[in-house]
Amino acid sequence: MNAPLDNEALNIAAWHLREAKRVVVFSGAGVSAESGIPTFRDDGGFWTEFPPEIYATWNGILRAATKEPRRLAAFVHAVIAPIADAEPNPAHRAIAEVGRRKPVTVVTQNIDRLHQRAGSTRVLEVHGSMYEVVSLNGKKSKRTLTQSQLKRIAERVRRAKYGVLSLARLLVAIRPIAGVGITGAHRPNLVLFGDSLAEPDWSDALKAAKECDCLLSVGTSGLVLPAAMIPAYAKDAGANVITIDPGEGGGDIWLRGKAGDILPRLVARAFD
Ligand code: NAD
Repeated sequence: MNAPLDNEALNIAAWHLREAKRVVVFSGAGVSAESGIPTFRDDGGFWTEFPPEIYATWNGILRAATKEPRRLAAFVHAVIAPIADAEPNPAHRAIAEVGRRKPVTVVTQNIDRLHQRAGSTRVLEVHGSMYEVVSLNGKKSKRTLTQSQLKRIAERVRRAKYGVLSLARLLVAIRPIAGVGITGAHRPNLVLFGDSLAEPDWSDALKAAKECDCLLSVGTSGLVLPAAMIPAYAKDAGANVITIDPGEGGGDIWLRGKAGDILPRLVARAFD
């Protein structure tokens, strides 16, 4: 059972949020857990089933395509389907609400676009987005998918998990996001292990972290570098750092619990 929320810590966090002139929200997979998108490192998490040394690099994925196409289809489906089906939860909406009260920059490691769909207007996606298709070298944006397009792709990938000709069916299924078209090769705009972070979002995120006076770190294990350095940059520049996470603490204040429970209470305490 989770420990009850520390009321005094909530009061202090609400005070920092109310007084702040510039806020950064640094979010990870945990902020979207209550939207049905699994995190990667929690118990029974994604990486247990799909080892990152294979599935978190482009080379590993290419090798899996030739050796274990059905398993690769299962991996692609496990990534895309929950994102295609997800809706913003109370945590995303509470963050958007802070943005209606004062300048907020959301720096997210997530690829699910849920902050934008909840109404946050300044969102930096340092690990890219599942909804964006770019040229093979990542330099040129090709197009942005709609949620229903992503749902259709997920359904076709699901069918490629079974039966023969799995690789051929998978390649056809993912053609809108990965493959070769008339304007050259394209791929999803995702930052995998060993890739540089998405620009200009990463440079803008560093600047925002150094200029904010309050940073909320929400639902991140803080293990994925260099993104995980954002709270430390803010702290070194003098910001108050508030962590919201049921499992991982840190920063000046740790509000222990689920983001969808804590954030609406924090925002209500700060502004109502
Ligand atoms: P992580 O899996 O390493 O850590 C998840 C964190 O969320 C943990 O600290 C956990 O205690 C916390 N958490 C779990 N449920 C929570 C809840 N209800 N409320 C608040 N916190 C909760 O995730 P990470 O640090 O973001 O690193 C994983 C990488 O994988 C990221 O870089 C991200 O790009 C990617 N990822 C993205 C998504 C997504 O787009 N939704 C989902 C999974 C992974």
